[in-house]
Amino acid sequence: MKSIEDCKYSFPTLSRKIAGKNLIYLDNAATSLKPFNVINAEKNYYMLNNSNIHRANHQLANESTQMYEGARKKVKEFINAKKISEIIFTKGATESLNLLAYSFAISNFFEKDEEILIPISEHHANFVPWQQISKLFNIKINYYVPEKGVFNEDNFLNLINKKTKLISFTGLSNVTGQIINIKKIVEKAKNINPEIITVVDGAQYVPHIPTDFQDLNVDFIVFSSHKMLGPMGVGVLYGKSEILEKMSPFLYGGEMIDYVTKENSTFNVLPYKFEAGTPNVAGVIAFAQAIEFLNELGMKEIYEHTKKLTKYALKKLSELDFVEIYGPKDDSHYSIISFNLKNIHPHDVSHMLNDLSGIAVRSGHHCAQLLLNNMNIKSSCRASFYFYNTVEDVEALIEGIKKVKEWIK
Ligand code: PMP
Repeated sequence: MKSIEDCKYSFPTLSRKIAGKNLIYLDNAATSLKPFNVINAEKNYYMLNNSNIHRANHQLANESTQMYEGARKKVKEFINAKKISEIIFTKGATESLNLLAYSFAISNFFEKDEEILIPISEHHANFVPWQQISKLFNIKINYYVPEKGVFNEDNFLNLINKKTKLISFTGLSNVTGQIINIKKIVEKAKNINPEIITVVDGAQYVPHIPTDFQDLNVDFIVFSSHKMLGPMGVGVLYGKSEILEKMSPFLYGGEMIDYVTKENSTFNVLPYKFEAGTPNVAGVIAFAQAIEFLNELGMKEIYEHTKKLTKYALKKLSELDFVEIYGPKDDSHYSIISFNLKNIHPHDVSHMLNDLSGIAVRSGHHCAQLLLNNMNIKSSCRASFYFYNTVEDVEALIEGIKKVKEWIK
């Protein structure tokens, strides 16, 4: 049985020395580390199977298909989807959101005057696809603007009306670390307009928070394997089958085809209808191992551990009068802390944390330029935690920040 306390040994990257010190990895919002069982699954697939799925019927191909479809079942159980056909594998959360936006647009989901509502504070992956289909297909779009980067659920809900056909919002902000009450928003939005389609960007939410998609009752959620121990290049689009059935595919070719004539083509059933071309078979199979790892630790434990760590880090950081912390000031602040050192550029801070203390944090606009404008900053440092981080890591961050300040003054 794995435990949070000794799971550090499962992550080979943590054995690296950076600037002569043990690596302290605090860039989990960008991508998580990968445990041995995930790395080995990817390697073993190429060493022992290496065959395409759903096509040939030799043993290697059959085994690959079984493992790939087994991974789909694992994802279904992990998020408690109703049906296995509601799990569509993509390249990542970004592709899932683009797929959704384009498929809705080409399927003529929006009647004249119906509109999309999105917060401007979204990651670009959940902003630009909606903005672009709005321009290309002449679909109305309405924006929610938060105050100083803090999302207010009631103010967002106040913008929903009978003409709002679709809302899309993140469950956990990759900049401010704010957790949004998905269930409340979905419930209230559907009360205002029962026909509304709800989309959640779960890229940061799903890796951390025990999630029952049927209970949340959201129509679509997207997430990426690489932020939850799995390989890069694999993502999930979860959607309610009754809506997916009505949507046109967005990419064509391969397993998504049913029958082709010179004049027309028909398409496969769900979920294959949306999985064109050769998928990332090795990645999907290794993703199943990532879920296995998370299940063994327990998502509740993962959430509780990271919650405690965030609280401790926020407390320690707020004791430094030269540090400005962004994001909500209440209990909704989780796992991600954006901050700046007064009068020092965040790129310099992240560079020096690396070079002086072996600490990896992110700096920049975090693919959310409009949110940073809303917060009146151009960029920030971002420390983001996962379950293998410890109190000692937080203390090292605090000492590292003090060192940067000393060095620059
Ligand atoms: N949404 C959010 C909130 C994210 O943090 C990210 C990744 N930074 C994405 C979407 C896009 O994920 P990916 O790059 O894995 O497609």
